[in-house]
Amino acid sequence: MSPRGIVYLVGAGPGDPGLLTIRGRELLRTCDDVVFDALVSEELLAGELEGREPERHFVGKRGGDMGSARQEAIELLLVRLARAGRRVVRLKGGDPFVFGRGGEEAQALALAGIPFEIVPGVTAGIAAPAYAGIPVTHRAVATAVTFVTGHEDPEKLESGTDWRALARSNATLVLYMGVRTLPDVARELVAGGRAAHTPAAVVERGTYPGQRVVTGTLETIAERAREASVSAPAITIVGDVVRLRDEIEWLERRPLAGKRIVVTRARAQASSLSVRLRELGAHVMEMPAIRVEPLDPAPLSRALGALTDYDWVMFTSQNAVEIVWRAMRALGLDARSLGRARVAAIGRATADALLGHGVAADVIPQRFVAESLVEALEQRPDVDGRRVLLPRAADARDVLPDGLRALGANVDVVPIYRTVLDGEGAAAVAERLRAGEVDLVTLSSSSTARFFTESVGEEAARAAPVASIGPVTSAAARALGLRVAIESDESTISGLVDAIVAANV
Ligand code: SAH
Repeated sequence: MSPRGIVYLVGAGPGDPGLLTIRGRELLRTCDDVVFDALVSEELLAGELEGREPERHFVGKRGGDMGSARQEAIELLLVRLARAGRRVVRLKGGDPFVFGRGGEEAQALALAGIPFEIVPGVTAGIAAPAYAGIPVTHRAVATAVTFVTGHEDPEKLESGTDWRALARSNATLVLYMGVRTLPDVARELVAGGRAAHTPAAVVERGTYPGQRVVTGTLETIAERAREASVSAPAITIVGDVVRLRDEIEWLERRPLAGKRIVVTRARAQASSLSVRLRELGAHVMEMPAIRVEPLDPAPLSRALGALTDYDWVMFTSQNAVEIVWRAMRALGLDARSLGRARVAAIGRATADALLGHGVAADVIPQRFVAESLVEALEQRPDVDGRRVLLPRAADARDVLPDGLRALGANVDVVPIYRTVLDGEGAAAVAERLRAGEVDLVTLSSSSTARFFTESVGEEAARAAPVASIGPVTSAAARALGLRVAIESDESTISGLVDAIVAANV
């Protein structure tokens, strides 16, 4: 029997990738196909699908053009994929059943006899106000909330909606619609009896990094939104709860709110720094200045085949750990084959990567640089005369192998990867730098400093101040003519983040 296909109607949340549910993430990580539209955040898709390649089907169009032909085509696609035995995630912005036509898709699946499940999502009507500091209900201010949608044709009012009745209720109104119909809606509501001075807010790109909020009253909000050139997606909140924003707005009060920071790290590692900076409110532009390119695997395989000959295996980066483990898996080996060998890691992140594979490092130096690792090894009786395997980057410094040899060790350096310039995103970042639209550039190593300067060009590279992870990186940056404004005390991502916050650029 062929495996049975299934469709999961999954809410992606309103934009911030952190607002995807755990169930949604689980399904995205195990599905065969993702069917999504324009309201689904690109960052969320890129992040959740990284390292996996389910087939992607983009079926959306920006601007709300979801005519019935398109809708029917989507439903046919879902049915066809499920009939072929695939596990399909139909990913929809916000919640699938809140103005998302998820109900229609579920009906079509039910009719076709296709199994399906619904995974609710965080709807924009709750999340966007929340990120704007507006609770949609509040004791004694609003005891009800009404979600209202606009017409499919953005120029027309929804004829099926009784605006007068909505006007008479004192529920908070959350209007899922563009701002073009806002003048008409506001007029209807006032005509129906809502006070013209009722507070109102429009949240543009709610929960996204570029979220903007425009406030006013029923009388002024449409004009204010127009003046601010608010564009889609945007949502409008009408009611006295909007006033609470003055007290509990929190997003723009975060330490790095509004700061535009360029993060340059190797692609696979960019996320942890970016995530931290974003949490603090920064607008992060990721520029993967360097990319990790694995080298010929044969020398590593040979070394791993003879692992029992080594007394030490040393790791100087997370990349090295991952590449070595991939090679071990290919050879049918696992952590046990390190058996006798001691293991050293250059820093905490590398040690954590090892722990992820079930290996606790025997040595982690105090400062996370090669010099410090050599110092740590000097104290040990089991280095002199021993054999060390050092799988690492081809372009790494020779401090560690030279230091080890000076301690009497017999070192096999095996180059396993190389860091190469990754020009992707560089042109856009260079432009922002030249336009003075970058507040800070983070540099996490000497090589990122070099690659960053090369890929955006010297002039652009010098246009913004730099936050460096430590003295070695700072020296490299200065040599390139960059302006080091911030230097981390501790050469870690946390140290770098703390230094950036403390500097208050
Ligand atoms: N199913 C979605 C809503 C789809 S209707 C949900 O539950 O959120 C599309 C409307 O939702 C848009 O016109 C806009 O009014 C609103 N919307 C969706 N995402 C938004 C966001 N990030 N910020 C502001 N409004 C958003």
